[in-house]
Amino acid sequence: GVAIVWLRDDLRVADNAALFAGSAHEAVLPVYIRQTASPARPRGAAAQWWLHHSLEQLAARLEALGSPLTLLSGDPFEILAMLVVRFNASAVYWNRSYDPARSAADARVKSCLTSSGLRAVSFPGQLLHEPTRLRTGGGGHYRVYTPFWRALEAGGEPRPPQPAPERLVAPDLTVASEALSDWKLLPTTPDWAGGLRDGWSPGEAGARARLNEFLGDGIADYAEGRDIPSVDNTSRLSPHLAHGEITPAQIFEALAGAETPGSDRDELVFRKEVGWREFSWHLLVNEPDLPRANHNRRFDAFPWAHSPVALEAWEKGLTGYPIVDAGMRQLWKTGWMHNRVRMIAASFLTKHLLIDWRRGEEWFWDTLVDADPASNAASWQWVAGCGADASPYFRIFNPILQGEKFDPDGAYVRAFVPELSKMPAKFIHKPWEAPRSILSEAGVRLGRTYPEPIVDHKAARDRALSAYNQIKGAA
Ligand code: FAD
Repeated sequence: GVAIVWLRDDLRVADNAALFAGSAHEAVLPVYIRQTASPARPRGAAAQWWLHHSLEQLAARLEALGSPLTLLSGDPFEILAMLVVRFNASAVYWNRSYDPARSAADARVKSCLTSSGLRAVSFPGQLLHEPTRLRTGGGGHYRVYTPFWRALEAGGEPRPPQPAPERLVAPDLTVASEALSDWKLLPTTPDWAGGLRDGWSPGEAGARARLNEFLGDGIADYAEGRDIPSVDNTSRLSPHLAHGEITPAQIFEALAGAETPGSDRDELVFRKEVGWREFSWHLLVNEPDLPRANHNRRFDAFPWAHSPVALEAWEKGLTGYPIVDAGMRQLWKTGWMHNRVRMIAASFLTKHLLIDWRRGEEWFWDTLVDADPASNAASWQWVAGCGADASPYFRIFNPILQGEKFDPDGAYVRAFVPELSKMPAKFIHKPWEAPRSILSEAGVRLGRTYPEPIVDHKAARDRALSAYNQIKGAA
């Protein structure tokens, strides 16, 4: 009979277990459902832009394989039940979502479909191992990365990725697909997506090309170079992973099979970064409140400041700290920010500005093309000091020294903060210390062309530490 394949965050045809199972049927109907009342957090604007283009690519690929993608909006259970009747389907397949906001609804769909005599099967999703499988000696979930990684490595080879189906047979009947353009996922006015279009190729083919490029070149010196934001030394696979255009199993397989210019250490460090994504999902599955609640409940009493003006300066990249501003502008312009700078910018928000990490998490959620419920929440909590295996709160990044260490010649700042492009390297991370003559030669007028620092580093640091002291002793 006909199989219905329900696609969600798995916008690919290779290593797609649900689609592969569907391809063994007489006919298969791939469907993507836009949930009008989703139990999960709605995608942010940048991720919606990505989704539009990714669906376009997927639809073209499925059509070429023989069974076009059907787009529908509404409640997934009602739509799937309608499709089952209409196509007289014998099976519904999908790949598991590990988002706790969705798994309860998925379980309901499964039991309803199964009770009407159907094969309703969910397949392992886009993690190397099922996140419930790895357990500490005490039976709980891991809260510290290193033992988690060891367990992951000891957990045996991840399942090998599945090939793409060679051909799909479309059912004889059809159901009218909605038009993607009607979903209005793209920005209209203002069209802020120019930088996204320039920098990214959403879709499975784009993901593959990105991986090949990274393995062919970018991975050389990754272990050190991954910390230098002006150098294109990281894979930039994150938005492709977030939309399921590629899986970690495919990445690990390609890495094992390729002759790369990277050293063993480069490869290990890269694999361990992909491992952080697994760890974040492991945390989210076991702590569903991770995007909202402090992992360390002591932080519930933290005296966060209410500062809408400072928050807006941070969002716009106008804090007067060049490395922070460069990062925030890279994010706005390209939908992505280098990991080192994410850490600096997030630390600045939660410590220098004393603003609740959840405000930063929300901004990232809306502006990142790789916005991911697990990695975003876990990373914000990690930086803020309230997370599992967190960097301690009192470790406060100095944005000047961080800039000087990781962007020594200022190339990254120059790329994203053009007002400072003529500043000599010596002062580019602290323009307020530059003598007048140097400022005027560089065409910089502090407070006019580029802001004065929004807070004084030393005073902000003292304020953060005394705020932390207020909760330190609490249980
Ligand atoms: P690479 O260095 O090439 O790493 C390869 C892959 O490993 C990445 O694509 C990603 O899937 C994974 N990875 C790498 N570092 C981390 C990490 N620290 N935590 C989890 N996974 C990691 N990553 C997201 O995918 N989505 C987010 O919403 C997100 N929010 C973040 C928020 C903050 C405050 C911070 C500090 C980090 C956040 N990260 C997030 C993690 C990390 O910054 C990005 O995954 C990374 O910069 C993506 O670039 P890349 O693909 O070139 O990384």
